[in-house]
Amino acid sequence: MPDLYGALDLGGTKLRAVVADLDGNVVGEIIRASEADEGPELVIGRMIETLEAASLEAGVAIPELRAVGVASPGALDLVHGLVQGAPQLPGWDGVPLAKILNERLGMPVLLENDANAAALGENRFGAGRGTRYLVYLTISTGVGGGIIIDGKVYHGVSGAAGELGHMCVWFNGPRCPCGKRGCLEAIASGMGLAWRAQDLVDAGEARGLERIKRERGELNADEVADAARAGDADAIRLFDEAGLYLGIALSNYINIFNPEMIVIGGGVAAGSGELFLPRAEETMRELAREEPLKYVRLQRAVLGDRSGPLGMIAALGDMVQEGGGHPSGTET
Ligand SMILES: [Zn+2]
Repeated sequence: MPDLYGALDLGGTKLRAVVADLDGNVVGEIIRASEADEGPELVIGRMIETLEAASLEAGVAIPELRAVGVASPGALDLVHGLVQGAPQLPGWDGVPLAKILNERLGMPVLLENDANAAALGENRFGAGRGTRYLVYLTISTGVGGGIIIDGKVYHGVSGAAGELGHMCVWFNGPRCPCGKRGCLEAIASGMGLAWRAQDLVDAGEARGLERIKRERGELNADEVADAARAGDADAIRLFDEAGLYLGIALSNYINIFNPEMIVIGGGVAAGSGELFLPRAEETMRELAREEPLKYVRLQRAVLGDRSGPLGMIAALGDMVQEGGGHPSGTET
């Protein structure tokens, strides 16, 4: 049997544990509720249980795994292996997750931002297989991103690089969940679309959306998408603007990074992409410089929720090849 590795995807609602070999063949996979509101200590215990169950499915015990990679949301301090907290992970403020798991599991633990991990997953095992320069964007509740340069995640000095969803595309534009204004995430994410729809309803400017909110009790991106498909002019405009501003952002990524491929994943892109991705591509082609535009392909992600864990498997493979250590993790 080839050497097996573990990967954990820590999310606000779900934990996913994957056991795989370095070629990305998954031999064990378990998904459990994270119950993140119970705080880090209990969630970490649950992460280990989930990994144990995935190992069992793979026919091994945790100590037989060679190393474990963890994909975590939010800002990370990869220099010290800290999870710095994210809105979906209450109480995770400076938790030394890599060190804790290293001590409890007795093996090297590698920590990575979830969108960076997903970027690497799509690069090695998904839509971007064979590419060396790739930009990954996940459009779901928020907008996350990852940049692959010469086959490696670009981390920046502390691990905070690649927040492509917080590129400012609209000066003084709508408020963003990050606290700033006019970020791509404020306009083209599930939360951004819902907030903008709500703002229109609050201002008494969107009768159709107001009616939907009354009928369904809430107004999330799915409701706005349904309204757009049913011909509601305000909902159509919100998605059209999401496409326009996404296209502006894509053209900037192309001009800056000259990537071979841009991969777009995430639930909102998968479920409602037809409402805004065509406009985004059209705008991208209009605004990006000709030379880098010739080389870029725009693709949809193919790995779904497995992109993060498989990215961690790829990162562990790189760690092994480089002979052990990694600044973002711990060594035994
Ligand atoms: Zn922002």
